[in-house]
Amino acid sequence: MEPAVSRGGKAAAAGLFAALVFVPAFIFSGLIVGREISRFYALAWAVFAGASAFAIAYTGRVSFYRRLFFSVSALAFLAHFKLGLLDKALAPACFASAPYCHIAMAPYFLGYLYQQYLALMSAGWRLWGPLSLGAAWLFVTLAIGRGWCSWACFYGGIDDGLSSAARRPLVGTGRLRALRDLPAALLIFFLLVSLANMAPEYCLWLCPFKFTGAFLARDGGERAAQYGLMGLSLAALVAGPLLTGKRTFCSYLCPFAAWQAFWGRLNPFRLTCDAAKCSACGTCGRACPMNAVRSAPGARPEILAYCNLCGQCLDACPSGALRYTVFGLELPSFGGAAGALISVKYFYVFSALTLATAFSSLWVPAALRDMVKLIFG
Ligand code: SF4
Ligand code: SF4
Repeated sequence: MEPAVSRGGKAAAAGLFAALVFVPAFIFSGLIVGREISRFYALAWAVFAGASAFAIAYTGRVSFYRRLFFSVSALAFLAHFKLGLLDKALAPACFASAPYCHIAMAPYFLGYLYQQYLALMSAGWRLWGPLSLGAAWLFVTLAIGRGWCSWACFYGGIDDGLSSAARRPLVGTGRLRALRDLPAALLIFFLLVSLANMAPEYCLWLCPFKFTGAFLARDGGERAAQYGLMGLSLAALVAGPLLTGKRTFCSYLCPFAAWQAFWGRLNPFRLTCDAAKCSACGTCGRACPMNAVRSAPGARPEILAYCNLCGQCLDACPSGALRYTVFGLELPSFGGAAGALISVKYFYVFSALTLATAFSSLWVPAALRDMVKLIFG
């Protein structure tokens, strides 16, 4: 239960929280955009992050404003992908050095390790590349962990945004629950096959957006199979959430979701159910877009490792039984407007929002610039 504060006090505390998010978000965003893009676009994105922080702190609700931020970021990714990547800007970097994104990196990890081993044996090894990549991964894991899939991932933002559009789902996902561990199986499969072939097999076969020529086989049959699997992935990413109201690509086809579920245990943030408050109503299970809550009638929910701390269930729970904790523990509550911010929930939101703003600065400011160019010539 958050301490009760007046409306003015709440606004002041929310303003303070927004400023705390805005400052690092602008610094990181400004550093990441580089010299080609005006800092004005980085500023605009940091202001949006600050506004999201304000709305979360003022209303106390994480899920709606998180989803809005996440969806805008994913839309910008699509806009930049469409207006920039396929035309010119990032094309050489992407096509020449796959895997280039976090989703593809996880299933190619063993291949990457083997590449490093070969480089070491041929005396051509450079420590800086793996060291900087490892340090960035550790930092992200400790700062946000599984929250990456609900704040930062561009495919996750598409899946999540579309799942919210399905007010009344046309198709239930009850039967799909039997496939809940499919991402883990896909991760193991792609790790082994990518190592055996020393090729980014996930990019070649399952990535929903890699249907450009650079990743397709020349042979007609193999090419058709690639199109078929990528079409299945695209359907899970776009049609699936619209029909079911669930994040079908993230829940059932994304190997990175399994990677985060495993390594996310290193991150201290948890979603915890207070048994004394829970009425076993099952609302959280129905609200969860990831199908990450196991619940039986009359029993308290079990939060699975696939939970990405999105907050949908927490805001939906009628008993206030769910909360963010650090390894199951809460901070003592402090009185006053600013004291309400000293809680695990706001530490988590601060961490997730600043990191997601920094990461998405790789494309959001560029997408804004693309839009301005498109509109004003
Ligand atoms: S929504 Fe809340 S009260 Fe209902 S089962 Fe889930 S945790 Fe318990
Ligand atoms: S269990 Fe709750 S916080 Fe976790 S993914 Fe599902 S809705 Fe989000």
